[in-house]
Amino acid sequence: MSDSDNTGCDAAYCRGGLVQEEGQRQVFCGLTSIVWLHRKMHDAFFLVVGSRTCAHLLQSAAGVMIFAEPRFATAILGERDLAGLADCNEELDRVVHELLERRPEIRTLFLVGSCPSEVIKLDLSKAAERLTAAHEGRVRVLSYSGSGLETTFTQGEDQFLTTLVEQLPAKQDEAPSLIVLGTLAEVVEDQLHRLLEELGIGPVHFLPPRSSDDLPPVGPGTRVMQAQPFTGEATRALIRRGAERVDAPYPLGVEGTLAWLRAAAHAFGVSDERVDAVTEAPVERARAALAPQRETLAGKRITFLPDSQLELPLARFLAQECGMELVEVATPYFDRECHGVERDALGEEVRLIEGQDVDRQLERLRADSPDLTVCGLGLANPLEAEGLRTKWSIELVFSPIQGFEQAGDLAELFARPLVRHATLKV
Ligand code: SF4
Repeated sequence: MSDSDNTGCDAAYCRGGLVQEEGQRQVFCGLTSIVWLHRKMHDAFFLVVGSRTCAHLLQSAAGVMIFAEPRFATAILGERDLAGLADCNEELDRVVHELLERRPEIRTLFLVGSCPSEVIKLDLSKAAERLTAAHEGRVRVLSYSGSGLETTFTQGEDQFLTTLVEQLPAKQDEAPSLIVLGTLAEVVEDQLHRLLEELGIGPVHFLPPRSSDDLPPVGPGTRVMQAQPFTGEATRALIRRGAERVDAPYPLGVEGTLAWLRAAAHAFGVSDERVDAVTEAPVERARAALAPQRETLAGKRITFLPDSQLELPLARFLAQECGMELVEVATPYFDRECHGVERDALGEEVRLIEGQDVDRQLERLRADSPDLTVCGLGLANPLEAEGLRTKWSIELVFSPIQGFEQAGDLAELFARPLVRHATLKV
């Protein structure tokens, strides 16, 4: 590859056919994941230890979605804290005591670190130990980092899950069991659970669980299947505790879900015939739901800017099942172990980028002028103003998109901006 090949990337960043870019990034930080995590674990509370900026981010990202008292808040570090003039630990203890008195339903409290708390080196893991001891038997206090210094927003969930893995009880025997890793909408979780049960696979546990009391045991005999591609660190933490990872594509689209279930079946010694029998009806329904969306999407050109880490499996689904043409697929991080199957499915011809140099990506995007661009919220409006159609990547993290029953809806999320554009043109 020359210094200025058709990707516009410097040859120094190329490795194994994947072009790496480094530069300015346009992504939300890990605090954003609290927006979906607080809805998932019903008896947990997320206390961000951060600045007013962190509080604003959470309010604006989650504000429109709150219908009840939220299960998150920000303990704001003031100027005296940041200047080292106040004892932050004393303040934090006071805030936590008040919170727990006011909210007796909290069973697990997560202290979430931020850029400011990391910069002043506030040790939240020590604070969590101290507070757990102070409230023993009443609440478990844990900590993780949601800082945006070196991460993208879905890594907040990975950090959260890694912390949770350390709390899992050790398995008492080596009998087979399955942990499905990564937050899924409850409706999706129920559907996958039903299918796995019909296949005779079990016991099945979902991590994170809906309740703090349902932490699954882990150890030899535990298989882990990732439901989300941004759970690499948590997967490795489970492996360190004796679990075995089952390699599979992610359960997006009809074929992705089928391959995911087939991989689970193989790991548990279930025959292909049984998989075919159990999945026949939902596969048929899903293909029928997908067909009208495919008519809109087939032949349309799509670019993914790096944001959510869902880019590779989504690109595979849109190319293979919806007939879209992939112009560029960029992902914030490529994890060979967790994304290798998806990358292989895209083939060698796809322009694949890891990381971000936002100015260069935008230059390429304008030159490519795809029919649809999947990007972060911050870039969507300016790109729309330039005449490009966009899809917010964060919407794909919030929406129930995995599994057979959601395949048609998933395709429709991409078809909608194209249909709207066509309607406005008429
Ligand atoms: S954690 Fe860092 S990047 Fe995120 S809102 Fe706070 S200051 Fe900003």
